[in-house]
Amino acid sequence: MQVLTIDIGGTKIAAALADQQGALSHYRTAPTPAQAGAQAVVAATIDLAREVCVAGRADGLAPKAVGVGAAGALDPAHGVVVYAGETLPGWAGTALAAELQAGLGLPVVVDNDVNVLALGELHAGAGRGFADLLVVAIGTGVGGALVVDGVVRSGATHSAGELGHLVVEVNGGRRCNCGGHGHLEAYASGPAIVARYQERLGRSDAVDLRQVAERARNGEPLASDVIVEGARILGGALAGLICVLDPQAVILGGGVADLGDLWWPTLTAAVRANPLPGPGQVSLHPAQLGTRAVLVGAARLAQARFT
Ligand SMILES: [Zn+2]
Repeated sequence: MQVLTIDIGGTKIAAALADQQGALSHYRTAPTPAQAGAQAVVAATIDLAREVCVAGRADGLAPKAVGVGAAGALDPAHGVVVYAGETLPGWAGTALAAELQAGLGLPVVVDNDVNVLALGELHAGAGRGFADLLVVAIGTGVGGALVVDGVVRSGATHSAGELGHLVVEVNGGRRCNCGGHGHLEAYASGPAIVARYQERLGRSDAVDLRQVAERARNGEPLASDVIVEGARILGGALAGLICVLDPQAVILGGGVADLGDLWWPTLTAAVRANPLPGPGQVSLHPAQLGTRAVLVGAARLAQARFT
């Protein structure tokens, strides 16, 4: 069965068709009109999805169902966004599945983007062969998903695995996207690393994470330091979580996890510095599906729900 698969992020919406095996075609992206509100995001998603359907139809492909991974905490049973941070103002409360279903005329299943990413990695990426996983996505935010006995757990209130708001600084600390202070996301995400670089530099150079990484590779100590600090703080938080959850493996993806040797050795050392011998040896893996992991997982979600 062909399905339409959609990834709604804070900066970009992506959509594609996927076949039974999860192979993607007719991939398209559009910017997320985040500041224009939830209805604008839904409308942009429907426009992009229709574009993919038109392109697919020209090649004789007609999707029968839609799978969606979206930012925020989502209730998959009711298709509703139950919580979202400041990256998508007004997103909470959106009846996402019903609105997309009305706009596209196809059955729709939705879930949180990191849960969907974890589903993709579990079946088609770095998670193959494992039953108990912690999956962490470190990019513009810090998100996580929990796989237990081969199933991505939603949790009692759809927040299982969400490690971004772990408190890592109890005395105030940096402001998080959720409005709180001292949370992991405000220290370990890409924007947090860039913000720390700009602060230490003492001027607000318009740099992004890629440029900070480039400066680190060119031997600039300050650039290396801020990346290492993000990795150390995340690794320390993960070490504690790994003791609690005792997963077989941890899979790390997202733009920050793509920093390679600038980031991984510090992250690994912080996880290995664990008082419990078993959790300290947990296997760590980079995510394998890259920027299309959410689309692959959302396709799987739709196949599982509607086939
Ligand atoms: Zn927070």
